[in-house]
Amino acid sequence: MKQKEITSEKELKKVLKKISYKFGNKQRNKIVCSLIGHSRISTMCFGYRHCGRCEELLGDSLGSTDYNKPEAVLIGHNCKTCRANYKKCTWKDKLYVPDPFKKIK
Ligand SMILES: [Zn+2]
Ligand SMILES: [Zn+2]
Repeated sequence: MKQKEITSEKELKKVLKKISYKFGNKQRNKIVCSLIGHSRISTMCFGYRHCGRCEELLGDSLGSTDYNKPEAVLIGHNCKTCRANYKKCTWKDKLYVPDPFKKIK
């Protein structure tokens, strides 16, 4: 597959259409991340941050490996920072990612 930069959701959907028929959602989400990068919307579990789309480990709060933490929106967190960060999110962050502010019961 030729690697070219994807700049719009429409473009991405076109690429996915060609390849997604043989993948499940999980595999598709991994492909999306490899094409446009990980989402800022992420899950936090025991200090480890995972991508909200492909579930890949992005870093932990103990080390300095979490490069994108100040920009992150944590799913279910719903604090001021998360809400402010969410406003900066683009379609690249929101695509195939659950609503981070949905109430979890
Ligand atoms: Zn990802
Ligand atoms: Zn937060």
